[in-house]
Amino acid sequence: MKNYRFHLTGAFGDPIDENPTCVMMNAAYEAAGVNFRYLNFLVKQGALEDALNGIRAMHFDGVNLTMPHKVEALQYVDELSPSVALIGSTNTIVNQGGRLIAHNTDGQGFVEGMRRSGVSLAGKDLVLLGAGGAARAIAAECALAGAARIFILNRNASRGQSVAAMVNEKTACAAEYLPWTPGVAIPPCQILINATCVGMGSGEVPDIDYDSIRPGTIVQDIIPQHTAFLEKAKSMGLPAHDGFSMLVYQGAIAFQLWTGVAADTDVMFRALSAEAD
Ligand code: NDP
Repeated sequence: MKNYRFHLTGAFGDPIDENPTCVMMNAAYEAAGVNFRYLNFLVKQGALEDALNGIRAMHFDGVNLTMPHKVEALQYVDELSPSVALIGSTNTIVNQGGRLIAHNTDGQGFVEGMRRSGVSLAGKDLVLLGAGGAARAIAAECALAGAARIFILNRNASRGQSVAAMVNEKTACAAEYLPWTPGVAIPPCQILINATCVGMGSGEVPDIDYDSIRPGTIVQDIIPQHTAFLEKAKSMGLPAHDGFSMLVYQGAIAFQLWTGVAADTDVMFRALSAEAD
């Protein structure tokens, strides 16, 4: 018998119109031959509880959550994955027969992206610029992946200290918060990560002392664009990676959680790049 009902997935957020995740997810669904669809939904602050009840009522397989819902969602779900319990925010909900399970695939996607670029985190010293939601997820997963030390540079001290405390209290990695003053020097490290939104849709670069970055430092931006920060790193002869891999692999992990099969990440990269051109 033919089945005319799609498995539904999507993203809830505000703003959401320009979020291209749907392009790579629908391309991957098609490549896998599964009857899934991914749609963007404008869900405003204050409407999340209704929207999540909606996915129970309409039997969605799950959704991604983006701004401003990643923390508030925790109070409306039935179970937290270990990553969510550690990080305190969720970007992926799985609906198991009406039970909503919260996952966080952002940091895992970051780690997988590094691994696929041939970069191991084990024993490495990292400098993390930023202490927002994405930085927190990255700090947690890099610590769990065996990073030795993480220096967290952030303007807002309490956010920076909170990320450092999470790492120190919940993982075997050592973390230290450093205040971000204009032109701040970068401590010696093997990997420098920009997890701020500086450079997103603009030609700005993080206000750091570029001369203090040691030769050979791997530079990783998480903004899924070709940023001025990456250009600057490349012009200094540093190995530099953009944020497309984190976007693809966090999506690939969600894909597997929803469909039960592995995503074709080459298809996802191709779909995203075609969109970016
Ligand atoms: P948040 O709003 O939670 O955090 C923003 C961070 O940027 C804070 O640490 C903030 O510092 C810092 N910041 C903002 N402006 C400046 C500035 N002028 N100078 C120094 N620091 C600044 O955002 P998210 O963590 O959710 O997202 C951050 C970035 O990560 C975004 O650009 C987003 O696109 C990207 N991202 C990429 C993903 C991917 O898959 N590739 C996934 C998720 C996010 P302070 O606390 O001092 O204000």
